[in-house]
Amino acid sequence: MTRPHNISIMGATGSIGKSALDVVRHANACGDQKFKIVALAAGSDAEGLAAQAREFDADVAVIADETKIDELRSRLAGTNVTVDAGLSAVVEAASRPVDRLLAAIVGSAGLESTIAAVRAGNDVAIANKESVVCGGKLILREAARRGVKVLPVDSEHSAIFQCIGDGRSLEKMTITASGGPFRKASLEEMRSASPQQAAAHPNWSMGVKNSIDSATLMNKALEFIEAGFLFDVGEDQLDVLVHPQSIIHGMAHFSDGSVIAQLGAPDMKTPISYALAWPDRTATNVDRLDLAKLGSLDFESVDEDRFPAIRLARCAYQHGAAATTVLNCANEVAVSAFIAGQCGFLDISWLVEQALSRYLEGSMQGIACETLEEIAFLDRMTREMTREILGSDLRRMGG
Ligand code: NAD
Ligand code: MG
Repeated sequence: MTRPHNISIMGATGSIGKSALDVVRHANACGDQKFKIVALAAGSDAEGLAAQAREFDADVAVIADETKIDELRSRLAGTNVTVDAGLSAVVEAASRPVDRLLAAIVGSAGLESTIAAVRAGNDVAIANKESVVCGGKLILREAARRGVKVLPVDSEHSAIFQCIGDGRSLEKMTITASGGPFRKASLEEMRSASPQQAAAHPNWSMGVKNSIDSATLMNKALEFIEAGFLFDVGEDQLDVLVHPQSIIHGMAHFSDGSVIAQLGAPDMKTPISYALAWPDRTATNVDRLDLAKLGSLDFESVDEDRFPAIRLARCAYQHGAAATTVLNCANEVAVSAFIAGQCGFLDISWLVEQALSRYLEGSMQGIACETLEEIAFLDRMTREMTREILGSDLRRMGG
């Protein structure tokens, strides 16, 4: 396999997108690897996108928000960058042939462009965990059909990918969780937590949605499901372990009692670079680990009373892809509502639990979740249902 050279980044102006461009900048500057940027896509940050497209001499820059097309065009005037806007333009950009496409849009909104990339034969480095939780089976089925690689970017999944070998004799896998900003908080403190407090992650710097998901541990719940789909293992083969220092990212346990773990400083540039350069590695400028300085690593189990998210993930994963889609979409609505001050912090997991149990008991049960259209339909239904619960049901935990 030749070293990946041409890459595209969907979600370029976000936390993962920027880290990926840092990886590219460093690899290109130190001569370790030469990456060429083909397409960059973003949601609405025309200024940030234009600066990236100029710096990296991208072939194409696409903004999902069509009202920003004029701004993007004028900021890129005099360059050779082709400019486009709108959701279908994002999908089209993802279909341009590349060696590797980084899927780093946030939320299930990223699914369509990921499927388009896979269908175009592009290997995908996948950061966008929500798209795996909703459409993981579809992504992997389409990838297998076309001989396309799907490489994990999430640090825990990258760790397992690096530890698992050919998967033979694997007994189970563990993903670690820092525990987030409320690891030691009381239920009372969590009930009154503000979005600013919830978004202040102790170890990782991330986009706001991912940070809030880390505070509820819904991030770990999504990752639990993501690991299940990506590595095709059962719920009983997946464990979550709280590890506050975020040094061990994941572990693979084998039938002879061996456990292989991957360690590294908590910096997404390491797993991003691995997914971009695989099967090789490329040099990064991340902090090197100094275990003697760290002294010790701590571990504890998840307190499921304060953090019901993992229990909800196990339940959803047991019920299959439609249930995991419901869990994800209800969470997206709940997190937006929390950021907008429409519900409390504890209401996020409560709303997800309500949506999931309504789904498991109710009429939406028969909705299939196999094609892009079916997933999009279930996504819409879940969002409507969750907004309805949010608006009508006043016995909310945090209220
Ligand atoms: P972010 O909010 O910082 O960035 C999201 C990016 O997606 C932005 O560039 C935004 O403009 C773009 N975007 C949003 N909607 C779009 C659309 N319809 N079309 C095109 N672009 C669109 O988020 P992030 O923290 O970078 O996370 C991105 C994804 O990676 C998420 O799924 C997250 O769960 C996952 N992830 C993030 C981290 C992390 O450390 N940040 C770690 C692992 C996985
Ligand atoms: Mg992660």
